[in-house]
Amino acid sequence: MRAIDVHVHPSSRGLDRDACAYFTRELSEVPSTEDQFAELFVKQQVKALLIGWHPSTVKEETRNSNDYVIDLVARYPDAFAGVLASLDVGPESFVEILKQAEALSRNPRVKGFKFHPPDQNFYPNDRKYYALWELLAAARKPVMFHTGFTVLGANQEGGKGIGLDCGRPIHLDTLARDFPQMKIIAAHPGWPWQEELIGIVTHKKNVYVDTSGYLAEQLPELFQRAIRGRLQDKALFGTDFPYIDLEQALISFEKLGLKDAVKEKILLANAHNVFGLTQE
Ligand SMILES: [Zn+2]
Repeated sequence: MRAIDVHVHPSSRGLDRDACAYFTRELSEVPSTEDQFAELFVKQQVKALLIGWHPSTVKEETRNSNDYVIDLVARYPDAFAGVLASLDVGPESFVEILKQAEALSRNPRVKGFKFHPPDQNFYPNDRKYYALWELLAAARKPVMFHTGFTVLGANQEGGKGIGLDCGRPIHLDTLARDFPQMKIIAAHPGWPWQEELIGIVTHKKNVYVDTSGYLAEQLPELFQRAIRGRLQDKALFGTDFPYIDLEQALISFEKLGLKDAVKEKILLANAHNVFGLTQE
């Protein structure tokens, strides 16, 4: 295997077309069937962690869901290594959310959880949610949070109701302090707060970061320097597929000119360690 991609959205459901347009992705190049989607990862010898969350900006068609991605992992084990499950933190009763979290935690295909604070409109360090983090930390499930800019609602009136503030990296700092046993992954380099994010990932041993949402050569300079050096054990390769193409992401990653040992950590070893995946 060449890499683990820790940040993949199924292109066969819940595709945000505005986001594709933002990344100038030709819809005809995005695999729309499950077979094509899985084949693409098998062909590149990359295994993906599939995210079960459905963006609020996509109203039409069938929703992406935890059940959907869990089923994909079961059907295409050569393409997909597991699931990052999502939970609606909004309208449902908190007891119900905890029940769902517990059930998902027991599923061996669920390797972790993923939240999108700007789209879900909540602060990860709000004490209201601490019982949930306690549960996930006890279950030893890493939790990924979107950080920084989001393409959802980008260039739309009022950002389609999405505020960026909930995605500021600093909110993960106090969370990591209060839950030292919980592995936290900041998704994306956190732009326009990349310095804030690097500070937190450097300071908190239990905070990691993924490279997703960018071609590697376009990652902020400071971020590139950090993952080449001090943060080489804390960075995880991720694409944000289908918004970023997998093949292009891999080609771009090579252009960073990282030493082989560092490359191996970011592409594979760090993900194995963080998510407890078995080596193949
Ligand atoms: Zn994403």
